Amino acid sequence: KMRKWEVEKKVKTTCAYCGVGCQIDLLVKDNEVVGVEPNYSSTNKDLLCVKGKFAYGFINHKDRLKKPLIKKNGVFEEASWEEAYSLITEKMKGIKNKYGSKSFAGLSSARVTNEENYLFQKMVRAYMGNNNVDHCARLCHASTVAGLATTLGSGAMTNSNLELLDSDVIFITGSNTTETHPVLGAFVKQAKNRGAKIIVADPRRIPLAYKADVYLPLKPGTNVALFNGIMNVIIEEDLQDSEYIARATENYEDLKEVVKTYTPEYAGSICGVDPDEIRKAARIYAEGAKSSILYSMGVTQHTTGTQGVMSLSNLALLTGNIGKESSGVNPLRGQNNVQGACDMGALPGDYPGYQKVYDEDIKRKFESGWGKELSSQAGLTLTEIINDCGKGEIRFLYIMGENPMLSDPDLTHVEESLINTEFLVVQDIFMTETAQHADVVLPAATFAEKDGTFTNSERRVQRVRKAIEPIGESKPDWEILTEIMRRLGMNERYENPRAIFDELAGLTPQYKGMNYDRIEEEGLQWPCIDENHPGTRYLHKDAPVRGKGLFKPADYMSSYENSDKEYPYILTTGRILYHYHTRTMTGKIEGLNNLYPNSFVEINPTTASRLKINDGELIRVISRRGEVKTTAFVTDDIQEDVVFIPFHFTDGAANRLTHTELDPVAKIPEFKVSAVRLEKIMKE
Ligand code: SF4
Repeated sequence: KMRKWEVEKKVKTTCAYCGVGCQIDLLVKDNEVVGVEPNYSSTNKDLLCVKGKFAYGFINHKDRLKKPLIKKNGVFEEASWEEAYSLITEKMKGIKNKYGSKSFAGLSSARVTNEENYLFQKMVRAYMGNNNVDHCARLCHASTVAGLATTLGSGAMTNSNLELLDSDVIFITGSNTTETHPVLGAFVKQAKNRGAKIIVADPRRIPLAYKADVYLPLKPGTNVALFNGIMNVIIEEDLQDSEYIARATENYEDLKEVVKTYTPEYAGSICGVDPDEIRKAARIYAEGAKSSILYSMGVTQHTTGTQGVMSLSNLALLTGNIGKESSGVNPLRGQNNVQGACDMGALPGDYPGYQKVYDEDIKRKFESGWGKELSSQAGLTLTEIINDCGKGEIRFLYIMGENPMLSDPDLTHVEESLINTEFLVVQDIFMTETAQHADVVLPAATFAEKDGTFTNSERRVQRVRKAIEPIGESKPDWEILTEIMRRLGMNERYENPRAIFDELAGLTPQYKGMNYDRIEEEGLQWPCIDENHPGTRYLHKDAPVRGKGLFKPADYMSSYENSDKEYPYILTTGRILYHYHTRTMTGKIEGLNNLYPNSFVEINPTTASRLKINDGELIRVISRRGEVKTTAFVTDDIQEDVVFIPFHFTDGAANRLTHTELDPVAKIPEFKVSAVRLEKIMKE
């Protein structure tokens, strides 16, 4: 709508949607973002997806929170920052004095900058004196962080975005890449056009499955059996990289022992996949000179999520696909800064840089850096925090930029916890489903109104630049946190995000060699250990970070909930291209809402015809936790006994149906497998 010559300025920054981390120019006129253009970079070349290019209207949207709100007698009233700050800090001090440090917990955010995540965890740890800080990585890649740290020594994407273009084989499993990481999806297609072979394993026939050389339509929850079956073929047919195994790994005999029973026939009987297709996939993957694995929440969001991740790591180690270009194990991180939030220690067991809270030397380092006594006891995870609120020790919950009232499993349970929490602060850009339950709501600025850094999925730390002044009285999260910490007596004085970055880089080994000047142009990929270090395009080059790559085999274990007579279908949840997470931002974009205004449930035509359900009909989906009404979308891209609901929407919210059972290691919920039944809605 704006002609090019009318634009006042272009400001280079980083897309605030997904973890690809595309570089963009914001086009600005009269303190309004009026357009977005790609800015050529090593992250995205000159590509952008529909969200990055067109979904900027939330920034200047009329519904933005513009003033602090305090709830009085159940109704929000506008308040001054002074009133809001005073109330919050009095409550924090009061609750700490009365009930002790364990009465406080904080949920940090994968949406805000590294600097802001660093400050948030510092506030919880240094002022409240506990480690009850976590964020939504617990819901997406906690099993990656735990699994890859165990097997390789680093829980991040091993390789880089552009390296995909030179892969010989790309194995995509549990990632609907073209919809959730669209620019990477485009790179996969470009690699395919160049001659790369594509393997897709997914319960849904996702768009990339149509381009695949092999498509493995496995049943939800059977990843470990499938990966074991692939490894069985590789070992049986002597396709493993014996030289790499001998040189760079340990525990190979255990792996052989476990996978030997997973013949393609046996694995196929568990996964529902043709054994010959398992053989074909194994041969293609093992014979590629550079085979890359891309995975996401179809692998991680299970009660066996950590085992699924470690099985993929086994597969890459078995074939020597670790420590070289265009290969590796590549978890695609969902949100713009979920990698950074993890790096910054918004995790209950880790200080910034994955330094453990129980390590006494590390604790002393942070105590001397922050001048406060710290706790060596790991805090509660996000899922445990929600369980505890209103029932256990936690009385004060501070949520920055998260929306558990849509994103967490079993929403009825989440709602109960939030209602029963004695004091709830929510800091966000809009009045979210979660903010409605708060005692105080603080209006935060968007990425376009502040400086800072995001770290994308390929570990690249990139600049976020202020393009416009904050809308209304909203403030950047770092300013809000700095003021709260000052009022808590922490004596923090940060002039700007650059100063925060310099402090965090000094305490985070992977970021030690970075500063704003060095990342001005292109960003740098961690680890970057000193000021002359060029950053790291791919990890584990000379040897895995932990010394030797560890084979950690596992047997297949069934999901927590299986279909039965009463609930005969498996619900699996996920995302679509046109919406982002809980729609806090994309829900404000008219064009996207016109395309996808409502929730829907994908149903196979055979199932639909058996239940006499028509395409477009409103139906009821029911689990042991609750029920939703949503629209049937009949498609043979989904298996007969599986249904799919995107989790973005408030009405027909998929997470009314999911359960809270966790992976015992990573404490991640099993969003991908819940038993449900479908019912027609009878007309009166
Ligand atoms: Fe933004 Fe991700 Fe789209 Fe790139 S691929 S433009 S980072 S949403």
